[in-house]
Order: sequence, then structure tokens, then C-alpha cells
Amino acid sequence: MAVTVGLVNALTPGEMRGRPYPAPGVDERAAAATEGLRAGGRRYAEATPGEADELAGVAARLRVVFEAVARGDADAAASQVNQLLKETDARPHLDRHDGEPWHLHFHGAGGTRAGDWAASCATALAVVLGGELYDRLGVCTAPHCDRVYVDTSRNGTRRFCSTACQNRVKTAAFRARNA
Ligand SMILES: [Zn+2]
Repeated sequence: MAVTVGLVNALTPGEMRGRPYPAPGVDERAAAATEGLRAGGRRYAEATPGEADELAGVAARLRVVFEAVARGDADAAASQVNQLLKETDARPHLDRHDGEPWHLHFHGAGGTRAGDWAASCATALAVVLGGELYDRLGVCTAPHCDRVYVDTSRNGTRRFCSTACQNRVKTAAFRARNA
């Protein structure tokens, strides 16, 4: 899920932590896509410009799922995920390489790296939406921010994309009380 969130936040335009976040331009897109892929903490190879273009399209469609859940429309979220699963032809496949133990990959139909990631992200969203924590996908509720998150807290009360946004809101509330 970290990569799904990372790709949406790095590649879809909107607002981030109080500032406009325009879609990354052609020159910045590969770096943004790489940042998204590495959001989970693994050093995946850098995205090529072609992969970045493809991933930007994927990210826009993944965002729709977060937005649907955030407004309480689980049906729309599920239908978007089903559409993505169908289009990416997500197929689970056990792989073992580079001295790692067996682990699960998801291969898409196109045989491209971006296609495989699309399949993998769609599957991750499907697992969340099909489980008890289906409503844990969110869009930041701080002013001027629309970055997405997955709420992995125990009580499920997360409302912000980051501690930066949480602190911004706290500070504003504190100022308002003291005004
Ligand atoms: Zn935020």
C-alpha cells in the first residue's frame, strides 16, 4: 500500500500541505515516479520517462478509489478497483530472486514495469476494500491539502496525510481559540 499511496501523492495534481501541487512537468515526472515507488522504503530502480508517464495515468485512476472511500461511496470505490483489476489483468505470481525468500509479485498483461505496478496497486486496494479495514483509505482533511493516506492506526481515527498537516490544523485551532 505504501507504493500506492506514494504514487498517488507524487504524481496527481492538487494541493499538498497548504500549497498548490501542480502535476509534475515532463522533466520532473521520472523523479516524482521514482519517489512514489520508493515510498515503501525499498530502493526500486529509477523510473524511466516512459514509465513515469504511464504511472501518472495509473496514479490518477488510483486516486479515484481514495476519493470515493473518503466520501463514503464504497460502491464507486469497488467498481473502480474492479475495473483496474480487469484492465491490468492482475495475476499473482510467486518469485524468488536476488537471494530473497519466495515473495508475491503481481504481473499485469502488458509486460511493462508500470503495468505490473498498476496490477500490484489495484490488488493492494482490492485487499483493503474487501476486508474489515475497507474504510481506512482517506484524503487529507487539512485545509489546502488533498494528499491520500491509509489509516493503519489501531482505532482508525487518522484524518491527515502527515504530521505536518496535523500540526498545521492544531496550530490554527489554537490560534482561533486565543484570538
Ligand atoms: Zn495533508
